[in-house]
Amino acid sequence: MPTVLDENITYLKGVGPNKANVLASELNIKTYGDLLFHFPYKYVDRTKFYKLNELNPQMNFVQVKGKISSYEMVGEKRKQRLVVKFFDETGSVKLIWFKGAKWIAEKLKINSDYIIFGKPTLFNQEINFTHPDLEEAQAHENKMSFNLQAYYPTTEHMKNKFLNSKAIHTMILSLMPKVVANIRETLPAYLIKQYKLLYLNEAIENIHLPKSNDLLQKAQFRLKFEELFYVQLKIFRLKTYQSTHYKGFRFEKVGEYFNNFYTKQLPFELTGAQKKVIKEIRRDTNTGSQMNRLLQGDVGSGKTLVALMSMLLAIDNGFQTCLMAPTEILANQHFKSIQELVEPLGVTVGLLTGSKKQKERRILHEDLLNGNLKILIGTHALIEDMVKFANLGFVVIDEQHRFGVAQRAKLWKKNIHPPHVLVMTATPIPRTLAMTLYGDLDVSVIDELPPGRKPVTTVHYYDSKRLRVFGFIKEQIKLGRQVYIVYPLIKESEKMDYKDLEDGLESISRAFPIPEYSISVVHGKMKPAEKDKAMELFVRKQTQIMVATTVIEVGVNIPNASVMIVESAERFGLSQLHQLRGRVGRGADQSYCILMTGNKLTDVGRKRIETMVRTNDGFEISEVDLKLRGPGDIEGTQQSGIPLDFKIANLAKDTQILSFARQIAEQIIEKDPKLEHSDNAILKRQMELKWKYEFNWSQIS
Ligand code: ADP
Ligand code: MG
Repeated sequence: MPTVLDENITYLKGVGPNKANVLASELNIKTYGDLLFHFPYKYVDRTKFYKLNELNPQMNFVQVKGKISSYEMVGEKRKQRLVVKFFDETGSVKLIWFKGAKWIAEKLKINSDYIIFGKPTLFNQEINFTHPDLEEAQAHENKMSFNLQAYYPTTEHMKNKFLNSKAIHTMILSLMPKVVANIRETLPAYLIKQYKLLYLNEAIENIHLPKSNDLLQKAQFRLKFEELFYVQLKIFRLKTYQSTHYKGFRFEKVGEYFNNFYTKQLPFELTGAQKKVIKEIRRDTNTGSQMNRLLQGDVGSGKTLVALMSMLLAIDNGFQTCLMAPTEILANQHFKSIQELVEPLGVTVGLLTGSKKQKERRILHEDLLNGNLKILIGTHALIEDMVKFANLGFVVIDEQHRFGVAQRAKLWKKNIHPPHVLVMTATPIPRTLAMTLYGDLDVSVIDELPPGRKPVTTVHYYDSKRLRVFGFIKEQIKLGRQVYIVYPLIKESEKMDYKDLEDGLESISRAFPIPEYSISVVHGKMKPAEKDKAMELFVRKQTQIMVATTVIEVGVNIPNASVMIVESAERFGLSQLHQLRGRVGRGADQSYCILMTGNKLTDVGRKRIETMVRTNDGFEISEVDLKLRGPGDIEGTQQSGIPLDFKIANLAKDTQILSFARQIAEQIIEKDPKLEHSDNAILKRQMELKWKYEFNWSQIS
């Protein structure tokens, strides 16, 4: 049933059709309700008054009480401006208006009390205010039932149409009394009572027109909580749905393959963290429910081995397994190293990528269907419908952030019951984001690197120091080490622009001439077979330098390479830089990461470089990344299907509220998985309203 909140914004006092159009096109505000949910982004304390002799141009918006001593129109017709002399007992300043000057001049009263509000600026050594808010002191006092004035996000276009923050504030002032009683509560009474939350109407009122600092904070808390809470509720409902709906394959025994691998093939001791995660997976795969587990572990922490041993466990129990990687290079690398490790045990391994020939594919398909092939490794080629397994029981997705939920879902369908799924990522994501993005997954963490690794030393050089860097490369090559030199791509696609790489390659070839040096080149325009060949030469130490684009960013594991040079490092994101750095430091030698940049750095660019130089800790880096970019831009978030464009909550800052919301959502779903209890009727209604038009989660599962 429509309420006053559904009323068209055109009818609000002072709006009208023109402004309504602007509001709709710029901010998607069409109704009274939309306006109420357009929240301020900051508040200015209007209890504080300054004296004119306290002002300086570094100050933000300030408020001053004083009187007008004189005013005049200055300049010719179109350039006319109004200059007002304003004073208090400590001094005087000029107030200037370029627009609407006449209209303002007509109302000015000499020697009566005014309050001005604006930003002090310096002009000809004097303090000026351009276009300040000007109000008679009496009128101001009558109106100020609250002291914190809200500021609203607006756009340039809106300002040109006289829809600035103040105009929105005025609209809110006239709207609030009309509607505040009609705001329908959206959280159940028991939650509000138990956690002493504000009611929605109190929260809305105080978010716009705060009666006190305390109420403003409570309002913010309530609204942020609600946003985060409903996302978590959705996640837990999905998770419960999955675990009650699907039967999981039971891996009851630890058999020969696993044991033989452990005793005969394993080239080193497992780290404590690896053992812990393998135990978690063993436990999960023997409960009768399907496992959905995220394995987070920094670059080089040894995730592949954990995946492989879990796969052997599946094979011991009569199942097939597959491992999907985001690039061909990585799929190839996994194929080779895994084949080497398990073929002596009699486990068959296959490779399926886009470049496989039809004939080879046909053989693979057959071997999969008749169950001969136990491990299939590949790129997303392996989710194609044609790829059918006899009995797929365990799926690994490497570098999961490169894939979307939809791809994960496709693998689910490769058997009558969904296989167990292990997704792995080395792109550490902040806890808050993990709870939201991967909230339906259980999380394992490898928080320990294999012994003997030395932390990579990271330094920043400007391009002008290139010769010095080349000298350093030569020294390292003399010591028998290998070097990566990586160039950015303008656009990440298979057919990409690689001009930077071409130019760079020329100067590198000159500085490192044949036959003393040899260089491998890998970029996205090359055919997979060529890439493979170039990689292979580098792996076999026949080349000392690998010049590449970011195709080598993820997963590549060549322990003898100990220097990573990143060209135009300012053009890479933090998680990319961290991934690239992760390509070195994999052997016993001291490794180096050298970030080359131009002389001009943006603030954000500089902050990224500084962060990389300061720390090797992937989680710390991801926190900085989230603060710099906002959650919507973090890799992997777009395809997630989970809305991250919160109106008021901020995943970079509201960690505690999120944990709180998550805990409560979990408790509720545990007690009432389908939200059928009458106390939870509001929750059910809101869930239906909120997610009605979205991606249907239960369908993908
Ligand atoms: P990532 O977690 O980045 O995928 P990898 O699985 O590629 O890391 O492992 C990185 C390197 O560490 C590989 O060379 C691997 O063989 C080695 N490694 C893995 N586990 C151990 C261990 N327990 N002890 C020593 N080396 C290990
Ligand atoms: Mg890896």
